[in-house]
Amino acid sequence: MTQPIQWTIPGFMNEHAHLDKGMLVPERSYKDDPVAIRAGWTREAKSSFTKQDIYSRAEQALQQLLSYGTAYVRTHVDVDPLVGLQGIEALLELREHYKNDIIIDITAFNQEGFDRYPDSAGLLTEALTMDSRIGIGGHTLSDQDGCSHINRIFELAEQANAPWVEFHTDESGKPEHFLLPYLAEQVKARGWSGKTYAIHCNSLANVSDELAEQAIALTAEAGLHVTVCPTAIATRAITRVKQLNQAGVRIGMGSDNMSDFFNPMGSGNMLQYAQLLAYIQRFYEPREMDMLLRIISQMPFNAESAVLVSQLAQDRYRFTTKDSRYLLTHLPLPS
Ligand SMILES: [Zn+2]
Repeated sequence: MTQPIQWTIPGFMNEHAHLDKGMLVPERSYKDDPVAIRAGWTREAKSSFTKQDIYSRAEQALQQLLSYGTAYVRTHVDVDPLVGLQGIEALLELREHYKNDIIIDITAFNQEGFDRYPDSAGLLTEALTMDSRIGIGGHTLSDQDGCSHINRIFELAEQANAPWVEFHTDESGKPEHFLLPYLAEQVKARGWSGKTYAIHCNSLANVSDELAEQAIALTAEAGLHVTVCPTAIATRAITRVKQLNQAGVRIGMGSDNMSDFFNPMGSGNMLQYAQLLAYIQRFYEPREMDMLLRIISQMPFNAESAVLVSQLAQDRYRFTTKDSRYLLTHLPLPS
């Protein structure tokens, strides 16, 4: 019989969240209407956000992450005329307050698109001047022309010398929304290799195997990272994680939304998200389970963030386990 071993890590790495919108539910009631309607409720809620309100909800979400042994979270924060820069201000304060417990990276996010709110561009630029460790985030589906959206976000990033760029990429999963190859080409052409994250990439699951293989090779060649959020399975297929990993693409994992109109659930427990992906894509072989644990415990790619995480105590979280299968199956709390 295998003896239990102690698995000690600095903590889990949550590479995509929306702490500014966290914990809206159940205070505001959730109804499972189509996503366009729920996005409208989000805009409505955002219009009444205050900095204090964002801080206290984000702190609640952060406490949940901490209770499950999280050491790093990279969170998107909406920046648009509805909420202004209040989210960034709140998260900067939260980041400072919790800097000895968890490293928070902030990505100023254009959730609503330039078509609907052209003034978001100026606000995003302003957000990037508020701190050197703030990245910028776009969404390939939020404007009519996804390619020009990608270009504009890169232009803003280049003007402000942003440390990283992220895109919610092909989130719908629909083949007609497939912009991953275009994004990878832009990363290569503009020299953003190693500093760009493509979140979701769900259309990759639904295009032909041939197109997928080409896109995966291009993604690897471009040094474009992919962030998978397994809870997206509620409405669409999840991207081809095993194939991306095999091609050498760096993969991160995120909780995505926690208790809001996009996801009324969401524990913040990275082991649970890894378990969910294990079930969805049959990560059943020992080396595949090991890979999932590596994804949720690897250091952030950004060098400055990695240094900050490494300065947190290295042996803070201890799990008693037999093997990775036990960890993923039983989701133990850290001690
Ligand atoms: Zn997201």
